[in-house]
Amino acid sequence: MTTFVYDFADGNKDQKDLLGGKGANLAEMTNLGLPVPPGFTITTEACRAYLESGGQPDALEDEVTQHLAALEKKMGRALGDPSDPLLVSVRSGAKFSMPGMMETVLNIGLNDESVAGLAKQSDDERFAQDSYRRLLQMFGSTVLGVHGERFSDALDEAKKAKDTTNDLDLDADDLRTLVATYKKIIEDDAGRLFPQEPREQLDLAVRAVFDSWNTERAMLYRRQERIPEDLGTAVNVQAMVFGNGGMDSGSGVAFTRDPASGEQGVYGDYLQNAQGEDVVAGIRNTVSLADFAEVDRASHDELLAIMEKLERHYRDMCDIEFTVEHGKLWMLQTRVGKRTPEAAFRIGMHMSDEGLIDADETVRRVTGAQLAQLMFPRFDPDADRTLIARGMNASPGAAVGRIVFDSDTAVEWAGRGEDVILVRKETNPDDLRGMVVARGILTSRGGKTSHAAVVARGMGRTCVCGAESLDVDARAREVRVRDGETLKEGDIISIDGTTGEVYSGEVPVSASLVVRHFEGEELDDDLVLAVRRVMKHADGARRLRVRANADTPEDAARARRFGAEGIGLCRTEHMFLGDRRELVETLIVAQEEADQTAALDALLPLQREDFTGILEAMDGLPVTIRLIDPPLHEFLPDYTDLSVKVALAEERGEVDEHDKRLLVAVKRLHEQNPMLGLRGVRLGILIPGLFTMQARAILEAAADRTAAGGNPQPEIMIPLVASVRELDVVKARILAIAREVEEERGVEVAFKLGTMIELPRAAVLADRIAKSAEFFSFGTNDLTQMTWGFSRDDVESSFFSTYLENGIFDVSPFESLDTLGVGTLVRMGTEKGRATRPDLHVGVCGEHGGDPASIHFFDEVGLDYVSCSPFRVPVARLEAGRARLG
Ligand code: PEP
Ligand code: MG
Repeated sequence: MTTFVYDFADGNKDQKDLLGGKGANLAEMTNLGLPVPPGFTITTEACRAYLESGGQPDALEDEVTQHLAALEKKMGRALGDPSDPLLVSVRSGAKFSMPGMMETVLNIGLNDESVAGLAKQSDDERFAQDSYRRLLQMFGSTVLGVHGERFSDALDEAKKAKDTTNDLDLDADDLRTLVATYKKIIEDDAGRLFPQEPREQLDLAVRAVFDSWNTERAMLYRRQERIPEDLGTAVNVQAMVFGNGGMDSGSGVAFTRDPASGEQGVYGDYLQNAQGEDVVAGIRNTVSLADFAEVDRASHDELLAIMEKLERHYRDMCDIEFTVEHGKLWMLQTRVGKRTPEAAFRIGMHMSDEGLIDADETVRRVTGAQLAQLMFPRFDPDADRTLIARGMNASPGAAVGRIVFDSDTAVEWAGRGEDVILVRKETNPDDLRGMVVARGILTSRGGKTSHAAVVARGMGRTCVCGAESLDVDARAREVRVRDGETLKEGDIISIDGTTGEVYSGEVPVSASLVVRHFEGEELDDDLVLAVRRVMKHADGARRLRVRANADTPEDAARARRFGAEGIGLCRTEHMFLGDRRELVETLIVAQEEADQTAALDALLPLQREDFTGILEAMDGLPVTIRLIDPPLHEFLPDYTDLSVKVALAEERGEVDEHDKRLLVAVKRLHEQNPMLGLRGVRLGILIPGLFTMQARAILEAAADRTAAGGNPQPEIMIPLVASVRELDVVKARILAIAREVEEERGVEVAFKLGTMIELPRAAVLADRIAKSAEFFSFGTNDLTQMTWGFSRDDVESSFFSTYLENGIFDVSPFESLDTLGVGTLVRMGTEKGRATRPDLHVGVCGEHGGDPASIHFFDEVGLDYVSCSPFRVPVARLEAGRARLG
């Protein structure tokens, strides 16, 4: 029989699937002997059963009853007992942390009677009333669907009536009145009375947590973070401990290392006389851990000892929530903490130096996406700038954009292509939509553990929080800066998430230190050292080679500095643009063969020069040059423009024969579906001179390089092949050219001849194609387009967002390989090709060659290399290493 409920003592940290992250870690801490208030976890399986059937699974109620009885026994108190109530918290906790996205209800078990019992037992009427009003507020909004603002407005009014802004100034009588107001709000808005029966409160709260898995904001967050939709959340029911029972109590959050920079040393915020939610909500200003030592030395020291124990146990930076109840420390949560990319690299290096983890683990702990973030530009340190505020460096990066004050505006402006910075006093889960589209997030309140900071770090979005000198007035749509300056919505600001600085206007950006390191600069910097060590180890571990897609000597040279081991795709089409376009026009419109030959002859030396430069930049490494691929009309003028030009000329009686012939050609070459038309190898077969001219240019360039003492390794690649016969036709012509060049030059020019596999037919018949091809390179851009049957140039903007919303994709298949469909073709093509030619060299040169998840797939399939844009080369090297290290 399925078990739906586990006591904290019965689980461990590896059961996140079943118990959720929070539950699994509460169990782990319990078993480590740490001071964790007892409780139990309702599994994600129960949640899934509930969400599927719309009702609680049968066994759940009984199991909760049993575990509740055991908890009551352990605590020596019964839930909601009028004279001495046991109170519990009900908290969500999915496998992957979704900060603030799902629900929590505290103080379950309080009602009109037990509130008196709590007051008596604690000898603190104010505390009892405060706890009750918190329950009404959370239960009302979470379980009964009352708008949260109704409660916060009533609280604000109560404070205003007392002429204060501090909730601590409200006394027991004020809070008792507030309790009555809250109950009335619930009755009016929810159309029912607040349930007095403790068990009913518990059951309803559990359901509300289950339901909160499917709130809009939770779904949006999951899409953003690529968390599967069908996991469900666990629910943790735990004996309450109170941080709001007086100044000898409080709540805090802490990290065992700085989550923003990765520096060694604990980092945290503590708030006296408060419950956990108050700390992250930023209602009052928190104190640092150092100041916490002044407030309560014994709890502080115990906390630090526990943090050290946790770090050694988890061998990672931990993020912790704790409460102090009348001087007694309680641990409420721990987990491996989210961190910025910078911190991830630094922490890995430090922990490996401390002997906590080995070198393999330092590579597993960082990702290509994090490395990519570190390669973004920073603000130029030498640029003029006007500092207007300083806050916490919550999530690194340099962001420039227009100020917006709410999510709706952020979404609207970003939708029309504006860069925006979302500026708020503090954020809450409802701001997520705006945070997703913003370049950066700036808040005036809250620390590195505030909602804005945690979510921004999770999304890799630049964030400065707690810039307290800023007076953010969302209603008036302005921010007042300390010196009296006022910034309006739409004004441009620049925020530096690495330093916490905020500037008015646009500050120019410069290359990141990590990029400068890859470019070969010697830099004495901790982060650069960490990156260097990770890259070295990843390079040692990887099996996949990494090449670059580059079509100029400059790009090739940069790719090589970034660690590329050759060129996997040199697209040649740009070599037919600019000044050379006229030659292509002549080639197309020529009526005499002699004219065509003349155009090709003129192109030949230019192409040879192109290839010589690239072969030189990649000397000693393979350079795969793809013969021209796109349809010819791409090199011709626009049909309408040209028609108008010719018509006007005719009217004036100034007929231009070239233009007229060109117009005929443009009309002839016009295609409804050019991507499915005369392109790739088809073009090479129809206009043989094009491919042979290119092949000659490549081989002559190679001969020149050899003569100059170089070591060229050209590979000629034919695009868009569907049949081995196509390949045979062009191959015969290229081999003939090769013989000619060898005879003319008197040297043997070594080269390989292969093909792209970018049509489903090619993948399916790869065994036949491999008879003729010495290598394959999967063109996964076209292969995705041709397999799904949708145009890569059109669909991303037209219907992909709807597909993503409907869960048809988790991510665009042009961004990350559709391993199920397109991936099957890649696997099949590789296997079939190698069945014919066991030493067939196989790579990939579509955009997916630089995508982390796709790289892991290519490694698993057994490709020899991936090829990606120069800038992604380090990312691919790292991910190829990670793919091997598991
Ligand atoms: C591809 O189709 O994956 C490819 C690399 O070629 P292109 O993007 O130039 O069509
Ligand atoms: Mg292609």
